[in-house]
Amino acid sequence: MTENSGNIVYSEDGNLVVPDFPVIPFIEGDGTGPDIWRASRRVLDAAVSSVFGDKREIQWLEILAGEKAFNQTQSWLPNDTLEAIRTHRVAIKGPLTTPVGEGIRSINVGLRQELDLYSCVRPVKYIDGIPSPMVRPSDVDMIIFRENTEDVYMGLEWKAGSSTAQKIIDLVKSEDGRDIRPDSGIGLKPISRFGTQRLVRMAIEYALEHKKESVTIVHKGNIMKFTEGAFRTWGYEIAQEEFGEKTITEEELWEKYDGTIPSDKVVIKDRIADAMFQQILLRPAEYGVLAMPNLNGDYMSDSLAAMAGGLGMAPGANIGDGIALFEATHGTAPKYAGLDKVNPGSLILSGAMMLDYLDWKEAADRVRIGLAKAVAKKRVTYDLARQMEGAVEVKCSEFAEEIVLQM
Ligand code: NAP
Repeated sequence: MTENSGNIVYSEDGNLVVPDFPVIPFIEGDGTGPDIWRASRRVLDAAVSSVFGDKREIQWLEILAGEKAFNQTQSWLPNDTLEAIRTHRVAIKGPLTTPVGEGIRSINVGLRQELDLYSCVRPVKYIDGIPSPMVRPSDVDMIIFRENTEDVYMGLEWKAGSSTAQKIIDLVKSEDGRDIRPDSGIGLKPISRFGTQRLVRMAIEYALEHKKESVTIVHKGNIMKFTEGAFRTWGYEIAQEEFGEKTITEEELWEKYDGTIPSDKVVIKDRIADAMFQQILLRPAEYGVLAMPNLNGDYMSDSLAAMAGGLGMAPGANIGDGIALFEATHGTAPKYAGLDKVNPGSLILSGAMMLDYLDWKEAADRVRIGLAKAVAKKRVTYDLARQMEGAVEVKCSEFAEEIVLQM
């Protein structure tokens, strides 16, 4: 296949070129995956067709991962699947079972690392009428850029008593004179300048493009100085080196601009992770774009999602340079598999992010409008219905039809 042949999305001078009938691979996912994928595909196709008529259409291509892949190919994540995503550059997936057992890696982590999808992007924006524990949930409008390839999630861990664990314990003693208890399991937490700076760069570019007021670097650098602390230092460094004209620090905001953010600048600030968990609850309006290492980002993404409707409504994407995999952020919810019951909102909104990424923004907006109106009509799936007074519980597929009707 040549780069620009037919219906393949390709990259030219760093920009994505999207044909009118792009082939987009999808992984339907395990458990409730097929239910929410069917619902999502219905909504995405309807949005594209309602905006572009017969001028544009996604050509869906099924690729395998998870249980379906294992049953057919004996591999949880076949090479063909990775190759198809590399070739087509944009793909979408439902949730996948994480096989339990030693030596088997999470498929999600595998996809992120194999394809170098270094940024996990999770927007959290409150939709009117969604149940929320917040007093003023409409203040919640944040987007997390979580580093996806480093930190303790690299899987560099050794069992207590193993020879590698022992060697590291011995090395620390001989190099640093410090004792680690001999019965310790050992894990490594690598955080690099390269990994940090490409992530923070993506967050700043997003803030500039979407006219967000600030990018907050979230870290635990007061304790872990050479990993999380370095993440902070390298984050400020790239802001200064590559975006010096367009960014200011919080100190500069007060010293030079008397606390008023100039319309053409983005404020770069940083917060310690534990304090940040308070900030997102107490002062969400002060934060727009958040950049953080892998583990902090994992926790904070779910915490933020809970403030705006829970995991059933939280979209997400894993993005690298010129390649992106959009995904439902929740798991397979196996007890509801095949019941046409769960909320497809997460995958539908991830699909809207995908349409944005393809620069089919009117179709993306159509999806969000349809979903917001369906919620306003209180015709929602069980997870929302049980928290909304006067709501009518509808099935997963019926929720999708309501969205299509409302768009
Ligand atoms: P889960 O599948 O996310 O489900 C936990 C609970 O969250 C469900 O019981 C349900 O709560 C609620 N929930 C999840 N999806 C929902 C939806 N679409 N609509 C409404 N409610 C939803 O987490 P898990 O049970 O811990 O994990 C199950 C499997 O998924 C595991 O194999 C895990 O490894 C995998 N997993 C995959 C991904 C991924 O592919 N990205 C992410 C996380 C976990 P109620 O019962 O209260 O209604």
